[in-house]
Formats: sequence, structure tokens, C-alpha cells
Amino acid sequence: MGESTYDVVVIGGGHNGAIAALVLSMHGLRVAVVEQNNVLGGLAGGKYVYGVPSSRFAYVIGLVPVELREWLNIWPESSYPDPNWVELDSNNGVVFRWWMDEEKLVREFLENGVDIKDLLKMIKKFWSCYKKLGLYYTVSAPSKEEAAQLLDSCGLAEIVASTSRKILSEFMPRKYWDYFIYPSMLDSSGFVLAYYLQNNNIWGRPRESMTSFSKRIRESLVRLGVHVLLGSRVREIIIRDGRAYGVELSSGERIISRATLFSAPITSLLDIGGYDRLEEYEIRLIERARRSTSLRSRVKRIDYLFSAQPNPPLEHGWRDVPIYVKWSSGFGGEYTYVGQYNGKYLVQFSGFTNDALRVLPPGTSEEELIGYDVRDLRVQVICCSNYTGHPDHLPMIDDYLFDKRPLPGWNDYRTSIPCLYHGSASSYPGGEVNGVAGVNAALRILVDFGIKPDVPLPAKGFIGDYVARRKWDTRC
Ligand SMILES: Cc1cc2nc3c(=O)[nH]c(=O)nc-3n(C[C@H](O)[C@H](O)[C@H](O)COP(=O)(O)OP(=O)(O)OC[C@H]3O[C@@H](n4cnc5c(N)ncnc54)[C@H](O)[C@@H]3O)c2cc1C
Repeated sequence: MGESTYDVVVIGGGHNGAIAALVLSMHGLRVAVVEQNNVLGGLAGGKYVYGVPSSRFAYVIGLVPVELREWLNIWPESSYPDPNWVELDSNNGVVFRWWMDEEKLVREFLENGVDIKDLLKMIKKFWSCYKKLGLYYTVSAPSKEEAAQLLDSCGLAEIVASTSRKILSEFMPRKYWDYFIYPSMLDSSGFVLAYYLQNNNIWGRPRESMTSFSKRIRESLVRLGVHVLLGSRVREIIIRDGRAYGVELSSGERIISRATLFSAPITSLLDIGGYDRLEEYEIRLIERARRSTSLRSRVKRIDYLFSAQPNPPLEHGWRDVPIYVKWSSGFGGEYTYVGQYNGKYLVQFSGFTNDALRVLPPGTSEEELIGYDVRDLRVQVICCSNYTGHPDHLPMIDDYLFDKRPLPGWNDYRTSIPCLYHGSASSYPGGEVNGVAGVNAALRILVDFGIKPDVPLPAKGFIGDYVARRKWDTRC
């Protein structure tokens, strides 16, 4: 079987793996990305449903920092409706509009007796300070305490030190909290609240769903000379002289590399030969997360295709069709109206309902339904090896935040196997389409290779290097 040599091989072509590969190749390294699917993007990849370009799981992009968007330029052309999203009641009546225009948003809350001006101002100041202190783009994630201590210089320690519940309760009554954060995250650090509010909770809807994202990522990688192996599964991490030495694919082909970056859900590391060289406590923690039913998400994605244009509630003066969120009668989910393609109209649902098919999207009728496609946990496992089914691989709760993500001791993107790194939604800072974990893992590899990163990112001096929780062997 063939053997090829690279500086870095990336396991998993989700957006984090792809971004890491881009950053590494921009620094002159030879990089290969191995992806088991035939398209890049992972959970944020594209898929054709009844011949219509759709999103496999993620369907809107909102948490990518502006500076990454400008630097990497791989985000799909998107529409930004205003209001960006709207809450509907059980009769599809409009309850609340989340405006893109900040003044209008503040006014909408004021009409409901809530003043969010200071909250938005505080979150903006938080992000500016957090990034400047080198806490976001970093080669070693800080602990919660370290982050709080450093943020004290901006008077913002409380945001990470206290909970999202506490912060929200200071600004508004309980019934508005769901507009900012999922209930399961309320008792985690206020960092999570800030995470979701980093772009004012505004989401872009890619024009051709996430298929355009998969395509753009691939074009950028190929342009930079990254070797992309699609439809190739890594079955083993090659260990030689006690360090990671590349990977072996299911085909038997071997890719030899100085460093190996694992960019898939952390729980899927146990599928890959060589993982047993990790330390016992690491294997135990990964096994526990993989088996845990309490971490398992029931989130479902459904695509509906209609032969006629849906008519969801629209009000005068709205720009484009917003995302509709519905939390009524145990129905937790949201609908995105993507538009028309070859005479078919695509509506995407994502949420927690057990019986979404019982209820069609607002403004649609059964007679016009061409078909639907349901993606549940089982599909996530088959497609993307995401065993928890959690959109963030691991939940954004204190047990998995800051230097504890994905597990204690791995805060510097290294593992106990020398030259095996990690960088995905499972890693700091966390999940969703965000890209920071991919950037940070790439920065860590560059630093370990003795290459000074040249990146247009706001960070204190260089890239904050907080205390690595373990002293790993880094000779790659
Ligand atoms: C239902 C659902 C809806 C969501 N909606 C949104 C949304 O609208 N907006 C948003 O921002 N986020 C959303 N998310 C979250 C977001 O999709 C993920 O957090 C993000 O895409 C994770 O990216 P990643 O690159 O870290 O990992 P992944 O996307 O999980 O990529 C990992 C890749 O590794 C590959 N892989 C695994 N094992 C191997 C192997 N052995 N060999 C080769 N390849 C391998 C997988 O195939 C996969 O492509 C959603 C998630 C879900 C599940």
C-alpha cells in the first residue's frame, strides 16, 4: 500500500479541521485532510435532498468572529433577514421580533418593559477585552479562574465567574431568557451567554444552504495546495517511538506526518486504533462521555420540500423571511425558509420535538408537501461519528468549559500521545460553526514546530499562552 509524507495530517474535514489545515498551509506547511464523507464540512456540511441543495445539520451561521470571517473568507454568501428571527406562538402568531438593527432590537425589548442596552454594551466590551487579553485566540485555554482574574482589569470578571442565570436575572424576567440561551446552559459560566451573544445573536442563512459552505472550504483548501482525501476513513493512528507518526486509512494507505491533528468529535477517538496509548484517565473520561445518556441530545433536523411557496407570517417592513422559533406546547424548535430551487421550496426544521412531522411548518400545507427527510442521532453517528448527538459535541456546561474542554489536562490542544493534537467543537472554546478551535489548534502546532504565527487576530502581544495543565513531550 502507498505511503506519503506531510508535515501535518488532519483527521476530519469538518469546518474546524479545514480551518486548521488552511492556517497551517498558509504558514508553508504541507498538509493533508482526511474526511470519511464525500463532502467537507462535517455537521456543517451540505447534502442534496430531492435534488435540492440543503444543510446536513447546521443551517445558519452566527458565531464566527468577524475577524475570522474577514481573514479566512470561506463563509458562504448568506442572507440576513431583519428581523433576523421571530418567535411564534402555538397559533403561529408573532410574539417577538429579534431585529438585526440594534436600535430596533432595544426598542422591541423596551416595548416589553425590558432594557437590554447595558447588557449588549457589556457583552461588546467583554469580547473586545477577552480577545485583547489573548483569552480567545490562544494556544492554551485558560481556566475559569484565570480568565476571571485577567478580566478584572476591564471590570468584567463577573461575566465568567457568575452564571448566565444570574446575569440574565439582573436584566429581565425569566420569560425572556430563552431568547438568549438554552435552558440547559443557564447554570454554566456567563461565558456561554457571551458566546451566543458575540454577534448580537444574529444568524446568516446561506443562499444554497450549507452545500455552498462545503464547496467554498474545498476550493480554498485546494487553492492553497492542501491534499484533501474525501471518502477516506482513518482507522489507526500510527504510533512509532512512542509518538504519533501519521495515520493509516481503511484502504491500508499510510500517511506519515510530523504532527497529527484529531478534528472529529472527541467521543469518536475510541473508534481509531492507537487510542489505547492514551493514559487510563483520558480513556475513562472519553468512554464516560460516549456512553452518557445525560449528555445525549435528542435534536432532530427535518427538511420539508413543497411544490408551492410557503406563506409564513410576514409583517410590513420586514426584510426577507426571518427564522421562526417556536417553543410552544413542548415544541422546541425553529424553521428556516431557504427558498426555491428548481420549483421546489425548502424549509428546514431543527429542534427537540419528538413528533415534528405531526405539525407542518407555519404557512405550508400537506397537499403541497413533496417529501421530507429526517436526520436524527443515528444519522449523526453514521455521517459524522458524533456519538453524543450534541450540536457542540460536548455540552457547554462548566464540566466541559475553559481548560476542562474536552477533558482536564488537554487545554493546550495537545494530548498525552506526543504529536497528537486535538481541535474541534469538542475543544476550547466550544461548539457551533465558530472556527476558533481549528485556528487555535493550528497555532499550537505552529508554536510547537518553532514557527511564529503570522495571523491578523486581536491578541495580547502574541497569542496568550496560559499554563499548560500537563507537561507533554512536544518533540515532533
Ligand atoms: C442538528 C444540528 C443543528 C445544528 N445547527 C447549527 C447551526 O445552525 N449553526 C451553527 O453554528 N451550528 C449548528 N450546529 C453545530 C455545528 O454544526 C457543530 O458544532 C460544528 O459543525 C462542529 O464542527 P467541527 O468541525 O468541530 O466537527 P464536525 O463537524 O463534527 O466534523 C468532524 C469531521 O470528522 C469526520 N470524521 C470522524 N471520524 C473520522 C475518521 N475516523 N476518519 C475520517 N474522518 C472522520 C466526520 O465525518 C466529520 O466530517 C448544529 C449541530 C447539529 C447536530
